[in-house]
Amino acid sequence: MPNATFDAPDLTTFARVDELGLVVVGQHLTPARAVLECRLADEDPWCRACGARSTSRGTVSRSLAHAPFGHRPTTLLVRIRRYRCDHCGNRWREDTSTIAPERAKLTRGGIRWALEALVVDHLSIARVAAGLGVAWHTANDAVLAEGQRLLIDDPARFDGVAVIGVDEHVWRRARWMVGHPGRRNSADQGDDGDPERGAARQRSRCESIMRRHRDDQC
Ligand SMILES: [Zn+2]
Repeated sequence: MPNATFDAPDLTTFARVDELGLVVVGQHLTPARAVLECRLADEDPWCRACGARSTSRGTVSRSLAHAPFGHRPTTLLVRIRRYRCDHCGNRWREDTSTIAPERAKLTRGGIRWALEALVVDHLSIARVAAGLGVAWHTANDAVLAEGQRLLIDDPARFDGVAVIGVDEHVWRRARWMVGHPGRRNSADQGDDGDPERGAARQRSRCESIMRRHRDDQC
């Protein structure tokens, strides 16, 4: 990388928690697990009822499994600020819906990692669960729900490039195959070498894998 530009090391961007609207404020590392203490990057002190500015009245914590780094599971300990309005007495806490679905045990990044691990890397649910440091059923439920939402329910699921890393991977792979005709593999692109057809074929494979996995659970 002769022309690479290096930035200052930054755990927030390295662990991709900035994509969840979080910033890392602490770390607790053991050989078996990494715990990253996080806060929402942007405070939200404005009262939902009267619009007055309030000050934080402490935090509550939410523990969420995140995408692992290496073979060490990574957990986010999110400190969620609580507020009480000085003007009208209204109480609220910060909105965490960008970080994880309500009552979920995995971050959105963790869910995406799990789905990619299953569909793209062909890992078993047991390996996915071990990577996340969660119970088998936790990983399985999260993967099924996200796979259903992304790969099966959404009719516009493959429009544009917004569809999670599965799609990015498919595109990268299809384009790589076109750039390396000697390594051409008919399973990865259309018979005429069209990367779009190849990607479409990969997508339908992803769907059938998810359907098969879901049916195995029933
Ligand atoms: Zn108020």
